[in-house]
Amino acid sequence: MHELAIAQQLVELAGEHARRAGARRVTRLNCRIGALRRLESDLMSSAFEIARAGTACEEAELVVECVPIRARCPICAQVFAVADWNWRCPDCAVEGEPLPGGDELELISIDADNELTPGAAEHES
Ligand SMILES: [Zn+2]
Repeated sequence: MHELAIAQQLVELAGEHARRAGARRVTRLNCRIGALRRLESDLMSSAFEIARAGTACEEAELVVECVPIRARCPICAQVFAVADWNWRCPDCAVEGEPLPGGDELELISIDADNELTPGAAEHES
C-alpha cells in the first residue's frame, strides 16, 4: 500500500520536527500532497492511523491540502486545474500542456503540544 509508505514518512518527519522543538506530542500534521500522487483519501486516513501508532503523532490529526495538477491551454493560454484526468481546456476543448507541480509531498508544519514539558519553549527564547 503506497499510502502507508507516505504516511510513515510524514509521521517520521513530524516526529523529528517535534523533537527539535522540544515537544512531546504532535497534535496536527499539515501537509500538501499533489494530485499526481493519486492518493485515496480513505486509504490515506487508515494508513495514517497505522503509521502514527506508538509515535509522537499517536493522537495527531492529519490535514491534507490537495494540490491540483495544472495545465495551460496552447490556444487561449489560460491555466486550468486538471480534474479527473481531463486535460482539455474548458473553453477550447484542446488538450493543455502540463505545468510543473502536482507531485508535491510536503509536510508544511506541525502543531505540537508542549504541555508535558512546560518551560522548555520558554527557556529557549
Ligand atoms: Zn483554451
